[in-house]
Amino acid sequence: MIAFHNVSKSYNFQAVLSDINFKISPGEFISITGKSGAGKSTIIKLLIGEEKPQKGRVIFGPYEVNRLKPNELPALRKKIGIVFQDFKLLQTKTAYENVAFALEVEGRQQVEIEELVPQMLDLVGLADRQNHFPHELSGGMKQRVAIARAMIHRPSVIVADEPTGNLDHQNTEEIVNLLLKINDLGTTVILATHNLEIVKRVKKRLIVLDGGKLIKDTEH
Ligand code: ADP
Repeated sequence: MIAFHNVSKSYNFQAVLSDINFKISPGEFISITGKSGAGKSTIIKLLIGEEKPQKGRVIFGPYEVNRLKPNELPALRKKIGIVFQDFKLLQTKTAYENVAFALEVEGRQQVEIEELVPQMLDLVGLADRQNHFPHELSGGMKQRVAIARAMIHRPSVIVADEPTGNLDHQNTEEIVNLLLKINDLGTTVILATHNLEIVKRVKKRLIVLDGGKLIKDTEH
């Protein structure tokens, strides 16, 4: 479903990724690890078409992402839910409204929104916090809202870029468990993290980046 073929990416003639190759099958849970600056976020940006490689091909389902034009990217991005370290929630909207907004911007019917949003907040364990604003939620809860928002389009893949970077141990565990649950329910999960404790705990396939190269690709 996802494939990187001989992908190289540099910024200002400085190589960040060199000749990267891997494939991800539907339903996999894959962790991408490496030190800060190893190129984890760059892999994600290439996958969602935010950056283009100088060499190689990035495949997502029927799309050759590196060739997509800007007006073709929204269709791709609807199939990929993204979660970031800093949550990126709208501060003036409640948990419910943050998730609903993702549907409103595409003109979905209000009745549909009222059905889908509570379902998704329930999935992430926030049914009782729907009307709380981000500043009234813990870091772990904010990340749950972000995951609900990422999942609202029922994407085939969820990409989490250092999702526990701002969380304490307990919340980290809970977010990792939630990603594992989402994966069990059938969504492919790509987890980029420098945190080796997490990688050890999830016991899933692992890709390691170092010096711009993919130095390891192992099943746990
Ligand atoms: P990671 O996610 O593993 O921390 P990144 O993919 O963010 O790594 O960054 C890899 C390298 O690419 C770093 O050295 C970073 O400074 C560089 N880099 C990332 N984005 C840009 C950019 N837009 N312009 C120049 N250099 C960049």
